[in-house]
Amino acid sequence: MSSNSRVQILLPVAVDQAFDYRPPVGVVAAKGMLVKVPFRGKSTVGVVWCESGAADVPDSKVKNIEEVFGLPPMPEKLMQFIEWTANYNMAHNGAVLGMAVSGIGDQGSGIREKKNNKTDPRSLTPDHWQLTAAQNTALDKLLPHIRADNFNVTLLDGVTGSGKTEVYFSAIRKSLEEHPDNQILIMLPEIALTQSLIERVKSRLGITPTVWHSNLTPKKRRENWLAIATGDAKLIIGARSSLFLPYLKLSLIVVDEEHDASYKQEEGVVYNARDMAVVRASIEKIPIILVSATPSLETVVNVKAKKYDEINLPARFGDAKMPEIELVDLRKEKREKNCWVSEKLRRELAENLARGEQSLLYLNRRGYAPLTLCRACGHHLKCPYCSAYLVQHGKNLQLLCHHCGHSSRMPEKCPECQEKDTLIPLGPGIERLEEEIKDFLPQARILTLSSDTVESAKAMKKAFADIEDHNVDIIIGTQMVAKGHHFPQLTLVGIIDADSGLAGGDFRAAERTFQVLHQVSGRAGREKLPGKVIIQTFQPESRVIQTILANDRHAFMVMEMRVREDNNLPPFGRLAALIISGKKEAMVRNYCNMLAKSAPMLNGVKILGPAPAPLTLLRGKFRYRFLVKANKSIHIQKIIRDWLNASPVPSSLKVKVDIDPYSFV
Ligand code: ADP
Ligand code: ZN
Repeated sequence: MSSNSRVQILLPVAVDQAFDYRPPVGVVAAKGMLVKVPFRGKSTVGVVWCESGAADVPDSKVKNIEEVFGLPPMPEKLMQFIEWTANYNMAHNGAVLGMAVSGIGDQGSGIREKKNNKTDPRSLTPDHWQLTAAQNTALDKLLPHIRADNFNVTLLDGVTGSGKTEVYFSAIRKSLEEHPDNQILIMLPEIALTQSLIERVKSRLGITPTVWHSNLTPKKRRENWLAIATGDAKLIIGARSSLFLPYLKLSLIVVDEEHDASYKQEEGVVYNARDMAVVRASIEKIPIILVSATPSLETVVNVKAKKYDEINLPARFGDAKMPEIELVDLRKEKREKNCWVSEKLRRELAENLARGEQSLLYLNRRGYAPLTLCRACGHHLKCPYCSAYLVQHGKNLQLLCHHCGHSSRMPEKCPECQEKDTLIPLGPGIERLEEEIKDFLPQARILTLSSDTVESAKAMKKAFADIEDHNVDIIIGTQMVAKGHHFPQLTLVGIIDADSGLAGGDFRAAERTFQVLHQVSGRAGREKLPGKVIIQTFQPESRVIQTILANDRHAFMVMEMRVREDNNLPPFGRLAALIISGKKEAMVRNYCNMLAKSAPMLNGVKILGPAPAPLTLLRGKFRYRFLVKANKSIHIQKIIRDWLNASPVPSSLKVKVDIDPYSFV
């Protein structure tokens, strides 16, 4: 190979194009190689994207590459995937690249490979595990899919506690035994879930998986990135961003809890990791397994269209039965002031405690109270930077904005009318619920679980150990408890406010509520003891509550599918959101009006807006939204690109494009 005089380097910055650089004399800078180059006064890691320079850059402008790293070059298929992701989500190539090289930061040299034998499939412990007949049947159906040396998608669909995890563990074991060089990625929607899965992998397979998420220390990050890039890491458990890593030999992706909306990344590059995982699998020509007890409508429609295969596990493992579900009609309940637990649920909690069994209360609100009101003037305490109410954390202690993180001490006077001692909390958060429970069950040992109480992996581990060791009688948790966890001794689940997710303009609200109610309910009675679920609701007749009560997911899905199809909503139609934001509202509005005037008028395309976003003010910036609806056959990205190109964005404003939006605030 002769050395090239100029190459194009893609850098992890928010631009699309690669820049020309000159390789060191006598050194080959081949496509995919990781290099260090000077950029805007700093040394930056980049990737050789093209082995020849762009013709229109004069030689005098071209800087030298500082270093060519001796790391494995970025695989060609990953480069394709980066471009595909950027193109589909209307993000910059460089920004997507950033996720792929984030493990090396700006110091690609200096990182040393650390051999870790615990990850070696040769140290897989012998399998003593006995799958049930149903699980074996599922495994037998799954194996041909993962052995087929091509792209295919399988939905592993089974009720909560049916052993889906055990089945895909068995499949992974087989795959690693047959091909010890292969790499397998298990994706999870949330960091909070990684810890317990790691433990399960260790005890079931005997190997230590390599972890990837945004909370790793820089050192761990580098180590794990390198283990993945060199192929040393065979089994990887990761959150969203693990999808963009430079696997040497990726052979299978498992997306657990595939329905989970947390797979949608909302900041930076906006993308849906579940959908992009399917794309990566198709580019890599490898199998992918989507796992869920409540598959997303998107996936169900793909199964129906025979694009995805489906494997079912219809019953819970062992003697465990699906829990019995009862409703409490909150319209008829006379609860005391500042109490949220109905008579019935109180009785059940007390009885469960007396029996020595564990209970779980689900309320998706962090903190003490969602609102703080001035009794004298009626003022609600608001965030100064967002159009949002401040959430009280700790009784009369602290006020926190859940949108921007702004935090302040609880004031003594109302900031509006200056009266003293007039501020009162309104509504419950999990901390206030804890107070209520303590009041009528003083002997109960309570644990609150939310992102506030278990911030670190260590705290998480301890919380789960406490639950498992039965040092806890009642768990009060946010959506964090709805997912994937297995608490063997938990027999009662109380849902405090089943309707809270149904408000607002989100067309997925019903689907998401169904999923979360089903998932939370699914935490009850997962082993020998039978489970019971009490759902408190103001809308007992709604189709979500009725189908949950009947445990009839199919009926719910059929109805939901019809609603989406009739309204040409995803997955039947296409949707994209444009969020225009800036410090000066008038400027935002002017630009939006200009966009509105030049909005494309095409058959099969409908543009709604501009309208102030529900969260009109966020971090001190005003936000307006457009919604683009289009028929399935329409290339929505092209339309948006042409539209925006015709009205260049003023530098003081930002336009965020959100393809397949999940958030409508
Ligand atoms: P899912 O992933 O479908 O929710 P899990 O795989 O977590 O279900 O299984 C539920 C519980 O039942 C777990 O504790 C699991 O270890 C146990 N379990 C499932 N299948 C078996 C089996 N064949 N033998 C022993 N325990 C099993
Ligand atoms: Zn705020």
